[in-house]
Amino acid sequence: MSDVVIAMDTVLVRVLGPKTATAMADQLALHTVRDLLRHYPRRYARRGEMSKLDDLEVGDRVTVLAQVKSASTRPMRQRRGTLTEVTVGDGAGSMRLVFFTSKHAHLKVGEWGLFAGTVGKWQGALQFTHPDCHVITGDDDDWARALVPIYPASKDVSSWVIQRSVKLLLDDPHSLDAALDDPIPEPVRRRHGLITLARALVDKHRPETLEDVERADERLKWDEALVLQVTLAARRRAAALEPGIARPRRSGGLLDAVDSRLPFSLTEGQREVGDELAAELGREQPMNRLLQGEVGSGKTVVALRAMAQVVDAGGQAALLAPTEVLAAQHARSLTAILGPLGRAGELDGDPAGTRVTLLTGSQKAAARRTARAAAADGSAGIVVGTHALLQEGVEFADLGLVVVDEQHRFGVEQRDALRAKGTRPPHVLVMTATPIPRTVAMTVYGDLETSTLRQLPAGRGGVSSSVVPVGEKPAWLDRAWVRVREEVAAGRQAYVVCPRIGEEEGNANDGRGPDEGPDDADGAPPDEKGSSSDRRPPLAVLDVAEGLRAGPLSTLRVEVLHGRLPPEEKEARMRAFAAGEVDVLVATTVVEVGVDVPNATVMVVMDADRFGVSQLHQLRGRVARGAHAGLCLLVSEASSSSPTGQRLAAVAATTDGFELARLDLETRREGDVLGAAQSGRRSGVRLLSLLDDEALISEARVEATALVESDRGLADHPELAAAVAALATDERADWLEKA
Ligand code: ADP
Ligand code: MG
Repeated sequence: MSDVVIAMDTVLVRVLGPKTATAMADQLALHTVRDLLRHYPRRYARRGEMSKLDDLEVGDRVTVLAQVKSASTRPMRQRRGTLTEVTVGDGAGSMRLVFFTSKHAHLKVGEWGLFAGTVGKWQGALQFTHPDCHVITGDDDDWARALVPIYPASKDVSSWVIQRSVKLLLDDPHSLDAALDDPIPEPVRRRHGLITLARALVDKHRPETLEDVERADERLKWDEALVLQVTLAARRRAAALEPGIARPRRSGGLLDAVDSRLPFSLTEGQREVGDELAAELGREQPMNRLLQGEVGSGKTVVALRAMAQVVDAGGQAALLAPTEVLAAQHARSLTAILGPLGRAGELDGDPAGTRVTLLTGSQKAAARRTARAAAADGSAGIVVGTHALLQEGVEFADLGLVVVDEQHRFGVEQRDALRAKGTRPPHVLVMTATPIPRTVAMTVYGDLETSTLRQLPAGRGGVSSSVVPVGEKPAWLDRAWVRVREEVAAGRQAYVVCPRIGEEEGNANDGRGPDEGPDDADGAPPDEKGSSSDRRPPLAVLDVAEGLRAGPLSTLRVEVLHGRLPPEEKEARMRAFAAGEVDVLVATTVVEVGVDVPNATVMVVMDADRFGVSQLHQLRGRVARGAHAGLCLLVSEASSSSPTGQRLAAVAATTDGFELARLDLETRREGDVLGAAQSGRRSGVRLLSLLDDEALISEARVEATALVESDRGLADHPELAAAVAALATDERADWLEKA
C-alpha cells in the first residue's frame, strides 16, 4: 500500500483488502479515506471499566477490554460437543464467556483482548455467549494503550478491524500530513486555538489521554459547525442577491374581506406578526420567515391573511401541508372563511374573489388535472397541497408566496423546490408548532428569520396530562376508559392513538402509512442497544379498536383512521368525527398535525413510549382546541423509574414547548435533527451537540459569514468548499430518495 498515494478521496478498496472495503461500504457506508477517518470512535475502553458492568442490563450489546483469568474446555454433559468456559477480568470486575465449541480453546490465561457480545445472565452472574473475541497480540501496540477506541461496528466489520484500518492510514508515511488540506483556514484556527486536522484525527483515533480526545473533539466539532454555517451563509447570500416581487398590502380586497368575516378578533400576537409579514411582503427582498407558535396558537389565520395580501397584489400563494388529511382540512377551512370570495368563477362566487384549489397525490387524475390547470392559468389564487405540489409539471402563473405548514416534516430542499416554481423567488413563510431552541434555529433554520406567537387565543381550556403506567398499575387503564365514557356521556369526543396500523404481517413497510409512524424515540445506536426483537410489537389501531368495541367502549361509536385507508375514506371518517357522528376515533399519528375538532377533549395514547417527545406534545394539542379542558393519558408499560418512564413523566409535567424541545433534542441524535428530512444520516454532524455547543456554533456562524462574504469567497479554501459541496449533494440525494 505504500505505493498508493493516499488522498482524502481515495477509495478504500485501494488501501484496504477488497473484503474489508466492501463490507465497510455495504454495512457502514464508508467508501473513501475521508469517510473512514471521519468514522470516529464512539468511546474508549479502559482497563478497570468492568466494574461498570453492574449497570448493564441483560440484552445490552457491549465491548469490554479484559484479561483472560481462566479458560477450560470440557465435553458437555447433556449434549454432544464441547463447552469452553473462559473468565475474563480487568481488576475491577469479571465475567464469564461461554462457547459451545472448542474454537476458542486457544484463549490463554494472561492474554488481553476485546470481547464484544450481548450481555446475558447465568446463575446470577453476567456472561457473554459466543462473544466476538479479539486477542491483542504482542506485536500489536494497541493493547498497551490506556485507551482503546471502540467504533460503531457492524456484522462483518468489527471495532478492531476498523481500528486496524485507521491505524494503517494514520501510520502511512506517504499519507495524511501531506494529503490533508485543512478545511479550516489557518487564521480561523489561530483565532480559536484549534489544532490541525491531521493532529486532531490522530488524537481522536489514537489518543494517549482523554485530554487529547477533548482537544480533538473541539477541533472536529468546528469542522462540522463551519461547514454547516458556510452552507447556510451561502444560501442567505444567494437569496439576498436575487430579488423577488413586492406584494404590498392593498385595501378593499380579499384581505379586508377575510378580516371582516373572521368569527373572532385576532390576538395581539397574531396582529403583531401579521404586521411584520405585511411589511416584509411589501418589499422586493424575498421574505424568509419561520413562524413558531404552540399548537392552537392560531398560525393558520396568520398565514391566510398573508396569502390574501399576495392575492390582492396579483400573485398566487401555495400552502404546503405534510399530510393529505391536513391539506384537505386547510382547503376546507380556507374555503369556509372566504365564503363566496373563495369561489370566484362559480355560480354563487364573488367575481372579486379567488379560488382555493386542493392538489394532492391521491386525487383522481381528472381532479389533479383540473387543479394543475387552475394553478397554471392563475385562476386559483390559493393552492393547497401535499408533496404533490413539489412535483415537476406543477406550475404557477405567478407564485408570490409559499407557506409551509408544520415545518418539521419538510427540509430545505423541499422549500427550494417550491421556491423554484416562481419566476422570481417567492416569499416564504414556514410554520412550526415545535418550538425551536436557539441553536437549532441557527443551524437547521439558519437561513430564516423567526417570529413567535406566544399567546393562545383566549377561552382555551388547556390540556392536562398523566402517565398511565400499566406495568405497575394495570387498573389505571380501566380508569382511563371510564374517563373516556364519562366525557362522551357529557357530549364530548375522544381520540385513542396507537403507534401501528395492524394486520400487516409480512408487509415490508411495517404497517406505517405514508404519513405516520413514531419517531425513533431513543437515539441509541443499534449495536449498543438490546435487539428490538425482544420487545413485543407496538399496539395496533385495528386490534385496539376491536378490543375497545368488544370491551370497555362497547356502548360507544368507535371508528378507526389510518394512513392505509383510501383518501376519500380518510376524509369521510374525519368529517364524521368532526360532525360528532363518531364518539371515539382510534387512529395512528395521522391525527398529529393540525386536525381540528374542538369538541374532542380526551386523548389516550397507547404505547406512549414509542413516540418522540415533540410528537406527544403535538398529539395532545388535538385535545386542547376547544373551550373545555382537555385530558391526555399516556399509557405505557415502561417502569416509571426507567429513562423512558421519566421522559413520559416530563412530558406530562410541562406544557412548555421550549422545555420539551430541549428534552426532545436530548433524546435524539443530532443528525436526526439536522438531517434534510429529520432522519437524514448524512448531515455531516457526528460530534456537534446542538444543546451543548451553542457558543461554538455562534462563533462558527460569524466566521462562516465573513468567509462567504469576503472578496474571494471560498476560492482560497478548496477543502472547505469541497466539504460544503459534499453536504449539499448529500442533502439533495437524501431528498431525492424521499420524494
Ligand atoms: P395552529 O397554530 O395549531 O395551526 P390553528 O391555526 O389551527 O392553530 O388555530 C386553532 C384554532 O383556533 C382554530 O379553530 C382557529 O379558528 C382558532 N383561532 C385562531 N385564532 C383565534 C383567535 N384570535 N381567537 C379565537 N380563536 C382563534
Ligand atoms: Mg396548524
